[in-house]
This record gives sequence, C-alpha cells and structure tokens, in this order.
Amino acid sequence: MPDVIDAVRGYIDRRVFAPALVHSEVPEDVKSTVRNSARWLRQFRRVGDLLHYMDRFRGAPETAVYTGLKAAGLSTFEDIRADLLAQFGAWQTDRTRLDDFVVGGTYGSSELVIFAEKYDNRSGGILPIGPKDHHKAVFVKATLSGGKYGNQWLEDGQRLKYFLKSRNNVFKESYSENAAIINHPHVPVYAFVRHQAEGPFRLAGLFKNAGVHTEEDGSKWFELVLRSPAETDVALDARALRDAHEREVRRAQRSSTAERRQRLASAPRAPVTVTVVTKAFIRNPDVVAEVLERAAGTCEGCGHAAPFARRSDGTPYLEVHHKVPLAAGGDDTVENAVALCPNCHRNEHYGSAVWPWQDPDS
Ligand SMILES: [Zn+2]
Ligand SMILES: [Zn+2]
Repeated sequence: MPDVIDAVRGYIDRRVFAPALVHSEVPEDVKSTVRNSARWLRQFRRVGDLLHYMDRFRGAPETAVYTGLKAAGLSTFEDIRADLLAQFGAWQTDRTRLDDFVVGGTYGSSELVIFAEKYDNRSGGILPIGPKDHHKAVFVKATLSGGKYGNQWLEDGQRLKYFLKSRNNVFKESYSENAAIINHPHVPVYAFVRHQAEGPFRLAGLFKNAGVHTEEDGSKWFELVLRSPAETDVALDARALRDAHEREVRRAQRSSTAERRQRLASAPRAPVTVTVVTKAFIRNPDVVAEVLERAAGTCEGCGHAAPFARRSDGTPYLEVHHKVPLAAGGDDTVENAVALCPNCHRNEHYGSAVWPWQDPDS
C-alpha cells in the first residue's frame, strides 16, 4: 500500500514537520531533531509499523521537541494521533511480520532496525526481535568487508565468524545483545549479510551459535552455523533454495560411500517441504511468439531442429531464453531473447554459455 503510507507521511508532514521547520520561534536544535525524525519516517514501508512507532510518543511529553513545539503553539505527534487513527486506523494491522523475511531476500538496514523497534541506525549489529528474554529471533547484520573486527564466512553460506557486541573493545558475554544469543540457543539467529560497507543485506539463512571463541587480543566471536531449511520452517527464495540444495549435494559427494549409505538407510522416504517465495516476471507473450517465429523450429544455439513436437499442439519444442536474465536487469525484448533446444538452454544456465553474462551478486 505505498499510496496509503505516502498519504500518512504527507499528513504528518503537513501537520507537524512543515509548520515546525518554518516557525521562527522553534529553536534550531529542535528543528534539527524534527528534520531527523522526518528522514526517519521516510524509511517506513508499512502504515501499521509507522503508527506503532508513533505510539512511543504517547505519555512521554518531556522531550525537547515536545516542549519546543508546544511553546510555539504547534502540533506534536501526540496531538495528531486521534485524527491519524480516525483516517488510517484500518491499516493499523499492516505490520511487518517475521514471516516477511525470506532467505535470499534483500533488506535495507533501516528495515531491519525498524522491525527490531530500535529506530536508530547506530543500534549495532545484533537486534533481538521481541521482548527481552522472550524474543522469538535475533537479527544480526554482518558486513563482510574487513574492518577492525572482521566478520567473515569460515565456510561459505554455512559457518559465519561474527563478532560479539563490544563497548570500547570490551566483549562481555553479559551484554544484553550477546546474552540474547548465548542464553537462548533455540532462538534462531537470522544472519543478514552484505559484502560492501553500504547497501542492502541479504538474509543468508537461520543460524545457531556453536560457541564463542576468544582471540589473543581479547575480542570474541560467535561461530554461527547454518540450520538446514528443513529444521527451520522459514521461507526461501527460489535461488536460495537452489543454492542450499547444491551446497548439500556437494557435502553429500564429499562424504564417504559408507557414511552416505548409512544416512540413506535411515532417511525418511517422504521429502520435507519448505515454502518458496518467488518474484515472477510477467513475460511479454509477443516476444516469445516473435522469437519462436524467427527460429522457425530450429535451435538458435546449435542450429539443429527442435528435438520433439509439443504434445499439446504439434509445434516444435524450443525454449525462449533471455541472454541477460530478467532477474539481472535484462530486457524482455526480441533482441535479448533466443529460442533454444533444452540442451542448449541448460548449457546457457549451467555450462559454457554462448551468451555469457556476469551475475552482479556473485
Ligand atoms: Zn540447441
Ligand atoms: Zn534461460
């Protein structure tokens, strides 16, 4: 509901922010806080989250902003609350939920901080979700680009070295953020990872703490180990599911035949199910039709005739492939598409590729 959230923001802007920023009697430090507040409010994506945030200001009128605005005869968050609820109260339940975080999905730092109800981008990398000691998850934001205490993969996607919260280079396990992980081994640790100092984080998976390690300089880090998708019931995006599966297959191939056979003997016969969330592209049917007509039953990769006719209508079976994938920002155009036989198509995705492209994420 982007239009509704824009309407809510516009309303707050008109009633509180704009009058405060132009008023001559409002002190500069109050204006600066108001500007900061306005910037922060732009980060909200859901109306319910924003209304919940504004609830924090109820019955806490001793702030400099509150008294500054009141002294100038202006409205505060508290004053517009009833009006706001009368207009937008129906969206109060439009809240972000834990289920909205999908393995493989990307999230901005503010989004994570808002969900943790910290409302401060300096709140650190460890964000317990929910009331103290009753939190249902811990989010960790891991920037893997070096730095003094360099978080890093010990095993790609599988085991993460992640430094404890520290204050002035002291790493106490009793700090509430660290304790939220150490004292609650069953609470999943959601690892949000990025490789640059800026930009969004990708949810790498749900992890558990396998131990706290101490370095010679006294710094401490968690050894976070991935829980398998089967044991977590978290949704994945299609690519994360594929990556996880390929990783598991490589592990299976590395273990000995005897170990593998032993596992197979006791493995459940029915597969475990997980939820996969997919963002699909609505492809232009004219592009597909045009490219198939251009190919006229011949694979544009190898030049051989389509391997078989479709059961449904007898037309030659070819697959329309995008040279630069739509997911990588490729165009859904005739120029960016080719009609391929299934072999050539798999070769584009998994083999040597006639039309190679570089995945910007890898
Ligand atoms: Zn071919
Ligand atoms: Zn393809």
